[in-house]
Order: sequence, then C-alpha cells, then structure tokens
Amino acid sequence: MIQNIHTGKVIIAGAGPGDPELLTLKALRYLQQADVVITDRLVSDVILNEYTNKEALILHVGKQCRKGASTPQFIINELLVEYALQGKSVVRLKGGDVSIFSNVLDELTALLKYKIPYEIIPGITAASGAAAYAGIPLTARDHSTAVRLLTYYKTDILNDEYWKELAQTDDTLVFYMSSDTLGALLAKLIQHNISPDKHLAIIEQATTPMQNVHSHNIYEYAKNESGNTYVSPTLIIIGKVAALHQQFQWLPNSNSKNYYFKPIEKTAKAEARA
Ligand code: SAH
Repeated sequence: MIQNIHTGKVIIAGAGPGDPELLTLKALRYLQQADVVITDRLVSDVILNEYTNKEALILHVGKQCRKGASTPQFIINELLVEYALQGKSVVRLKGGDVSIFSNVLDELTALLKYKIPYEIIPGITAASGAAAYAGIPLTARDHSTAVRLLTYYKTDILNDEYWKELAQTDDTLVFYMSSDTLGALLAKLIQHNISPDKHLAIIEQATTPMQNVHSHNIYEYAKNESGNTYVSPTLIIIGKVAALHQQFQWLPNSNSKNYYFKPIEKTAKAEARA
C-alpha cells in the first residue's frame, strides 16, 4: 500500500514516573507540536497543562487496575489510528517507560496494520524514579548484581518453584502493581526462607510531592502487617539494597494521603481545551 501523504505520525512516549521534570526533551518537543495527546492516568497534569501545545486535544484513556473503569485497549488503538489517518500529529503518553507493563505491543500492532508511521520515546520507569527519589541504588556492590521488574497482580501466575527462586536470589526484586497483594507476596517469600537481611521498601507516589517511603525488615513487617493500604501508585522494592534507604534518603516523606494522579473516572472522557 502506498503511504497516504496526509497520514499523521504517532509518537509513543514515556512521561516518566511523576515529577514532570523527568520528561525527556524529545517527548517535550513532540508534545509542543502535538494535535492530539492520548494519555494514561499516571501522567502529571503539569505535563498536560504546561508542557503541551495549548491547542491540542487531550484524551484521557487511563486504566486503573482493579477499579474497573478504563478505556478498552481496542478503543485506544482505534483512536490512535483514526487521528493519524486524519493527518494529525498524535502523542500517546504513557506513565513511566513505554515498554514496561504497558500495552505498547497492541498499539504497535494496530499502527503497523494501518501502515501508520511511529516513533517510540523511552521514559524513566517507576523503578528508576522510585529508587532515585528514595535513595536506594538498585544494584550495589556487596548487595545485588541484578534487578528484576516483576508484578504479582494476578496472584496465580507464579508457581512455587518460581517463588523459591525469588526468595533465594540476591537480585533486587521490584514489584509493580502489587501493593494489594503485598501480604500474600511476603508470605510466599517467607515460606521459601527469604534471608532476614533482605529489606522491603514500599514507595507511594514516587517522585511526586506526595511521595512516602516505608522501609522495613521483611519478617517484622509481615508480623505486624494487618491490612495496610497504600495510595496508588505504589512500588515495592525487595532486597538488601532496600535497607540503604534509611542511610541515603534525601527526600522527607510527605506524610500525605492525597492523590497526585487523579483516580480514574467512571467513563473515559474526551476534553477539548478552550
Ligand atoms: N509503564 C510504567 C508502569 C505501568 S504499570 C513504568 O514504566 O513505570 C503501573 C504501576 O507502576 C503502578 O501500579 C505502580 O506499581 C508503578 N508506578 C508507576 N508510577 C509510579 C509512581 N510514581 N510511584 C510508585 N509506583 C509507580
């Protein structure tokens, strides 16, 4: 098929974990030229209100795990294709990095199917942002030589062999989308004799003004844990490195329970800016 010369381009860009200044210059440049921005929930309002072309149409298509309300992926795909075929410059903004726990593959598949040109711009993933703003090196000599990015969102996906290996490795374990399953997650690691020198850091709303870091010994936390809830989004870091927070933290806890990212509304909303 010959490319329609009026076809627009889709820029799939990571917006970083929260602090708007963690956006890349490249993503900023495209946002300033965008006709349409299709954004996830975990993207700072500052990026949309201050760094984005004032004339751009902004569509909120955020998903929030377990909260039920979201824009189905096929509709997001359709929006990308539709606006690009109208010749628009479309930026698809995703929280953190584009390629980590996102549906980028679905979107790329849709773009390829319609031969729509695209670019992918990486972003700072929550693990990097949270680690930096909590004063935790993800790898460090004598602590950990590797990092794993994991999720325990669907509680049945990991078998016992897998848990045993996770409990015994010295790699740093970073769990996304897993604060609701934290109790079960720790029980599994303890069941498989995770070493008592491993610590746990629970980082709420990392890199935002509402950031809180809770740092604990795993066994002590598990003993006292009784239905703690955390403000979304929350990231969990497990390993010897997590204890370094106590020594190297540089940002005080906000002690706030307010939301930096607006919780999702019942229906996806398209709002044109005046
Ligand atoms: N693509 C994103 C991850 C999307 S999955 C990235 O690269 O960061 C959404 C999960 O990411 C949340 O449930 C939470 O576990 C984590 N997350 C994203 N932003 C976060 C933040 N500011 N603070 C803590 N966790 C965050």
